[in-house]
Amino acid sequence: MNIKNIRADFPILAQSIQERPLIYFDNAATSQKPQVVIDAITHYYTHLNSNVHRGAHTLAERATIAFERTRETARAFINAASVQEVIFVKGTTEGINLVAQSFGTHSIEQGDEILISEMEHHSNIVPWQILAERKGAILKVIPVSDEGELDMEAFDKLLTEKCKMLAIVHVSNALGTHNPVKQMIQKAHAVGAKVLVDGAQSSPHFEIDVQDLDCDFYTFSAHKVYGPTGIGILYGKKEILDELPPYMGGGEMIKEVTFAKTSYNELPYKFEAGTPNIGDAVAFHHAMEYVNQIGKKNIATHEEELLRYGTEKLSNIEGLTIIGRAKEKASVISFIVKGVHHYDIGMLLDSKGIAVRTGHHCTQPLMSRFGIDGTVRASFAVYNEKEEIDMFAKELAQTIDMLR
Ligand code: PLP
Repeated sequence: MNIKNIRADFPILAQSIQERPLIYFDNAATSQKPQVVIDAITHYYTHLNSNVHRGAHTLAERATIAFERTRETARAFINAASVQEVIFVKGTTEGINLVAQSFGTHSIEQGDEILISEMEHHSNIVPWQILAERKGAILKVIPVSDEGELDMEAFDKLLTEKCKMLAIVHVSNALGTHNPVKQMIQKAHAVGAKVLVDGAQSSPHFEIDVQDLDCDFYTFSAHKVYGPTGIGILYGKKEILDELPPYMGGGEMIKEVTFAKTSYNELPYKFEAGTPNIGDAVAFHHAMEYVNQIGKKNIATHEEELLRYGTEKLSNIEGLTIIGRAKEKASVISFIVKGVHHYDIGMLLDSKGIAVRTGHHCTQPLMSRFGIDGTVRASFAVYNEKEEIDMFAKELAQTIDMLR
C-alpha cells in the first residue's frame, strides 16, 4: 500500500492551513473524500439528475440504476443477505432513530428494558431515552472500566429477560474501544432481546459481516467511510423489518393510498419516504469501491501501526494521559493534559495546520465517567502518515510547554 499515492487521491490534503501543510487528524468526525467521490457528485448532477423509481424517461431510469447500484454495493460491503435489508438513511443518527421509533412502537411495552452502554454517542442514547419516556420503559447502562472497556460482568448481570433491545456501539468514537459485539449479540439473543449495532466508527476501519455478527440492526454513515455527508445505511433483518411499522409516511413508501386505508410498499422502500438524497447515494458507491480496492485489511493494518506509533509518541509527553487504553482499539487517541485545557491545545494546534477535535465528542456521560469535561482527540485514516504523527507530537509538546 503506497500512502503517497493514496494521499494524491484526496485533493483537500494538498492544502495549506494557516500557511502550514494540513495535518488532518479529525477523521472520526468525518473523513476526507477521494477525487472519484467528488467527481461522481459532479457527474451525477451533470449527466444523471432525475428522481428515482417514478419516471418513465431515460434519465429517471439511469438515476434509479445508479441509486440501486449503491444499495447493492452497500449490501456487499456489510455482507447483508439481501438488498431488501439495506435502507438508505441520512446517517447513523437517522438509522438509530428509525429503529427506536419503529421497533419501539411495535415491540417496547411499559416496564421493558433497553440496554445501552456508558460509552455511547448521544445519538445512541437520546432516541432510547425519548422512547423509554414515551413507553414507560427502563433504560439501563453497562458501565465502562478505567481502561475504557465495557464491564462484561456487569453486562451479564444487567441483561435480563426483560431486555428487549441492546443498542451498542461497535467502536467508541471517544475512546477507540472495539467492543466484543458478536459475543454480546449471542448473549442478548439468548434472553430474547434484539440488538442494534452503532457502526459509525467500525465501518471505516474493519470488515463488517452482519450475518456473521448476527445483529438485528447495523447502521453507519457514508461520510466517515470517505463518502458524502447526508447519506448512510440502516441494515435490518428482513423478517424483523417486515413486521415493523413505517418510520415516516409519504411518497415512495406506499403501495396504495385511499382516505380509508393505506397499504405500504415492500422492503426496503417501506422505510424510504420521500425523495432520497440521490446524488450523494450515487457517489457513495464510489467511496465503498475505493475502500474495497485498497482493502479493509490493508487499511486496518496501516491504521493499527499509526495507533501504535502515535500512542508511543504521545505517552512520552509529560503530563499527558491517554483516555481509553482498551486492548482492542481503532485508530483513535483521546487524551488530556494536566493543567492545560483541551480547547486551548486544539486552538494552538490549528494555528500550526493540525486539525484535531476537542470537547466531549457527543459523549457527555462518558466524560462524566472519567471526571473530565472533554479530551483532545486525534483519529487516523488510511491517508495519514507517521511523519504527520512526528510533526503532531513535536508541535503538541511545544504547545503544552507554552500553555503551561
Ligand atoms: N455514533 C458514533 C459512534 C459516532 O461517532 C457518530 C458520529 O460521530 C454517530 C453515531 C452519529 O453519526 P452521524 O452524525 O453521521 O449521524
